[in-house]
Formats: sequence, C-alpha cells, structure tokens
Amino acid sequence: MNKFLISATALAMASTSFMTSAKEKFNYNVDRFADIAVLRYQVPGFEDLSLRQKELVYYLNEAALQGRDILFDQNGKYNLAIRTTLEKIYTNFSGDKSSKDFKGLEKYLKLVWFANGIHHHYSMDKFTPEFSQSFFDAQVKKLGKHSLPLEKGQSVEEFLKIIDDVIFNPAVMSKRVNQADGVDLILTSANNLYDGVTQKEVEDYYNKLKDPNDNTPISYGLNSRLVKENGVIAEQVYRIGGLYSAAIEKIVYWLKKAEGVAENDNMKAYIGKLIEFYTTGDLKTFDDYSILWAEDTKSDIDFINGFIESYGDPLGMTGAWESMVNFKNKKSSIRTQIISDNAQWFEDNSPVDARFKKDKVKGVSAKVITAAILAGDCYPATPIGINLPNANWIRAAHGSKSVTLENITSAYGKAEEGNGFYEEFAYSPKEVELMKKYLSIADNLHTDLHECLGHGSGKLLPGVDPDALKEHGSTLEETRADLFALYYLADPKLVELGIFSSPETYKAEYYKYVMNGLMTQLTRIEPGKDIEEAHMRNRHIITQWAYEKGKKDNVIEFVKRDGKTFVKINDYSKLRNLFGQLLAEIQRIKSEGDYESGKKLVEQYGVKFDSDMHKELLRRYSKLNIAPYKGFVNPVYTAITDNSGNIKDIKIDYSENYVDQMLRYSKDYSPLTK
Ligand code: ZN
Repeated sequence: MNKFLISATALAMASTSFMTSAKEKFNYNVDRFADIAVLRYQVPGFEDLSLRQKELVYYLNEAALQGRDILFDQNGKYNLAIRTTLEKIYTNFSGDKSSKDFKGLEKYLKLVWFANGIHHHYSMDKFTPEFSQSFFDAQVKKLGKHSLPLEKGQSVEEFLKIIDDVIFNPAVMSKRVNQADGVDLILTSANNLYDGVTQKEVEDYYNKLKDPNDNTPISYGLNSRLVKENGVIAEQVYRIGGLYSAAIEKIVYWLKKAEGVAENDNMKAYIGKLIEFYTTGDLKTFDDYSILWAEDTKSDIDFINGFIESYGDPLGMTGAWESMVNFKNKKSSIRTQIISDNAQWFEDNSPVDARFKKDKVKGVSAKVITAAILAGDCYPATPIGINLPNANWIRAAHGSKSVTLENITSAYGKAEEGNGFYEEFAYSPKEVELMKKYLSIADNLHTDLHECLGHGSGKLLPGVDPDALKEHGSTLEETRADLFALYYLADPKLVELGIFSSPETYKAEYYKYVMNGLMTQLTRIEPGKDIEEAHMRNRHIITQWAYEKGKKDNVIEFVKRDGKTFVKINDYSKLRNLFGQLLAEIQRIKSEGDYESGKKLVEQYGVKFDSDMHKELLRRYSKLNIAPYKGFVNPVYTAITDNSGNIKDIKIDYSENYVDQMLRYSKDYSPLTK
C-alpha cells in the first residue's frame, strides 16, 4: 500500500504564514463554519497559456467537475440522497432563516459539502446535526415525494425511516473509515466501497486473485465495490456500463475533447488509455495509462483524473475518485529540478542499510505546479504535494511524478498572515524569529524532499508483499517520506546546491515539525479521542520517538511557563541523528515487510498522547479562533465562443462564493443524483 498524498492541513497550517509580500486586494477568505475555513486561490499564469492550452485546461476541468457525485457515493451510500434532500430544503425554505433549526441545517449542509458526505473529511467521524429531527421530517414532508430522491416504489415515510437514522442516530454509520485494532474493519466502516462482506471475505477474495510471483501486479480492487449478491462475492466495477456509468460517461465525453487538443502525441496516447480504462474498467489498462503518464515529463499542462488514493478504504485498496488539473510553474520548478537531478546522491548517502537502497533511482521527476481546478478527493480540502502513480513496480521501472502546488500553499499563507499562532505556541521569540525568516522556504523544501525523493527512495527485498504492513502501511509510508525529508533538510548539501542560503534554515522546519507533531496538531483531535489519521500518526511517531530516545541527552524538552507547555529543542544536530536512526529502522520495516515491528511503533508512539496537555492546547488554540481545517473554492472558467461555436478564449473569474459554487455543482455536475 503506497500513499503519496500529503495532507494539506497540518503542513499548511503552519507553512507560509510569514510571507511578507504586499497585501493584495484579492480576498483569500471565503467562508467560515464549524472547524472549517474556506479559502480561494489564484491561478497566476493562466492568461499566459496559449489558446489551445487554455482550451485543454477547460475540457479537463469539465471532466474533473463531472466526477463529484462519484466520491459522494463512495464515501457513503446515502450521501447523495442526503445532499440532495438538504439542498432542496435549503433552497425552498420559506420559514424563519434565523431559527436554530435552519441555521443548524445550513451548517450541516456546508459540512456535508466540504466532506463530500456525512463524515468529517479528516477525523472520519459522522457529523452531529444541530437541527431537530422533527424539523427535518416536517421539511421533507413539505417537499413531497416528487422532489425527493426516493428509490423506486419508496414512500416518503420509508425514505425518512432510513435517512433519519443515518443522520440522527449516532450509533449508525458512525465512522467512515475505521482503523481501530481488533474489530472487523470492513463491517465497522461506513464507506460504500463494500457491501455485505466481512473483512475476512474481502481478504480471502483478493488473496485468491493475487499471484505472489507476479512482479507487475495490477492494483486489485482499485476501481470496484465488493459486494455479496445471493451469497456470491462479486466486484461491481466502476466503468461505462458498470457502477457510476452516468458520471464516467460525462468524464469520458470531456476527456475526448481534451484528447483532441492534447499538447503532444504522448499526452494524446495517455488520455486515450485513460478513456479506454474508464470504458472497460480493466486495471491492466490503468497501469498502461499510468506508465505513459509517468513518462510524460515534457508537457506543460498535466492532470489527474481517476480512482487514485485509497485512504478511504480501511484495507487501502479502493481508490477514491479525484481530479486535479494544473500547469507547470517554470520559475519555481528550477528548485525541484536541482533536487531530482541529485536524487542518486541522496539515495546513496542516506543512513539506510545498503541492502534496502536503490542502486539506481529512476526518473524522479519533480515540478512545481499551479493548480487550475480541484475536484473529487482533492476538493475542497486539497493536498499541497502529490506523488504518483502509486503502484510500486511502476514507480520502480518507470519513475513517478512529484508535484508541489505552490499557488495553493501561497493561498494558505496569505489567508493566515498574522493569526498569532506561532506567538502563542513557540517556545520563545527566538523560534518565532527563526520561522519568520526561514520557514517558508524550509517548508517548501520539506514538501519537495518528501514527495520527490522520500516516497521514491528505498526498495523492498525480493518476495516482500507490498501490502505486508497492512493497516499501518500508509502511516509508515508517510513516516518514511517525512524522515527522509527531515534528515536531508539539515544536510550541508542543500546549501552547497544553492537551495538554502543559510545552514540555519532547517532549524525552522525542525522546530515547527516537533512543535506540530508533539503539540499543535493535537488541537485537531476531540477530547478523549486517539490519533487516527495516517499523517498525524506519522508526525507523532517521529516526534514522540525522537523525544523519548533523546531524553538522556535532553535533545527535546517540554518546558512549563505560566501554566503553558512549550517544546524546546536543545540540540538540533543530535535531533538530526535521531531522525536518521528512525529512518533506517522504518526503511528496514518496509523493506522486510516486518508487520509486527511496524505495528508496535505505530501503537507505541503514534496513537496516544497526554490528555492534560491536550486540554491546555485546546484552550489556547480556541482563543486564537483559527479554523483547524481549510479548503478551497475553485475559480469559474467560462468559454468565450465565436458565432460558429469555436472557443476564442477562456475567462477566469474568482468571485463565486462557497454556497453558490456548491449549489451550482449540484445542479450542473450531478450525473448520479436523482
Ligand atoms: Zn506522502
């Protein structure tokens, strides 16, 4: 299992807050509700694209937006029905809009839009409605059966019986992805990737299909829902004529248009393969597509559109639908080019055992990009770095593409300027100063190293099952990539390569990382809960492990002052050594497929934390009134055509707000909605 998606929130939460460029008129903040801030991003450079490139982006954007319903349905089988019902109530409501019930429904709907379903996009917990069931029932009845997304022959009462339970009963579908130890992860997860099957049945089904001697295995289960029908276990494949056909047909319609204005033959070929994959559902074709895509490093325009990351599946197999369209930021890509040009040096000099190193690091291609549209699992919450494809053998044989989304990180930074976060949590003005000075570049470098080198580094020993680390696979993979980045951030090589101007630069990232891993990221967890999300676990493993192992040398210290807890780093170079030691161990675990050791590390260092400190952090954090999670609305692209319908230009507009965008998408891009 390989996950190469950096979660945006935590890295970005503290990323570029100190960017000092002059205040622009552009309004980055769009909406604020619950624990969410909705921002907007700019697409600098879009105007400079050629007309043909703009047209290509436009078609790919349309293909991206057509998949929104797929993800809603993957995330839970009642999500689309609930979204539609809530939207109908919201837009037809004629009562008191300042009432507690209506306000509660509005907030809930905004959350459902943001999470692409009824579970929090990060904690995976079901949302608690702040409106009454009687209010909801009355509104539903008022709408009447012709306005509701009823199943064939279903009455309003029967519909309500199900939907009420799903929305209001906390015991029903309580968690979208359950990672808790010792229970059936399939039965206890509320996602819609499986139906009527147990974890054992799923594992047996796929184990039977897998050939241990196959060196180029397809990504089993990536594009299907596994169900039991009449006692028989079968895959419902996402394809034209199969599951989600109506949406996939639309996606393919726009992909065909894009194919017609592709930048070059290579791109034409992989768009063609993607269309073939969507048409047949054949995972071998998906691999063919992925290879062609990974090998295209020449085009300016690029995109992802498909079933990609499998965080939404407790067993890490089925890909959540996502799309992102982008073009290369040529100026900033010089930085990542230097890193990828030196990939072999980094591999050779890492503290990892020689047996686990790649003799030849292949095709680590890295670039900085400008996102043009975010969709599916990238929207509204979005990654800031992506490294694909996920299939291990393709990465090894054909390389992978790693990208940093700089217009997104920049928007995070602009929206967060002056929020007082570091002043509250950093140990002293010295650390604040350090981060002001260097964090922006150090943070970008962390992302670059994590994505273009970290995930691509190391190798499995012959015969080791890539899924051997099972439910801890994503956490340990992120741990590995982060450690690789952390270790090299402190290497004089970065100064030598001209990427860092000062040998002190890495300290800004070290401080932020340790403070975040041990303390501030915990502000996103509710009291009484454990750390569950893979990236958060990874950061806690790294920092907690370094804290404990460095105790005898006092490398990291907790300091209490005026009733507040701070972390202090006393020895940065010893801390680097600790990161190196843990990197070597995690790589060993991965290379040998040592499930037991991996599990032990996660459980010992990644899950639990001090509850008293947690309470204190929550108190301090709430005073700052910062939204722990952020996401984006997209710009609106409009095609300007001449009298015969030919596109003359694509106009871009940033003024759309969150509610309008969501309602428009539900109206114009909802092929699966009744
Ligand atoms: Zn990653």
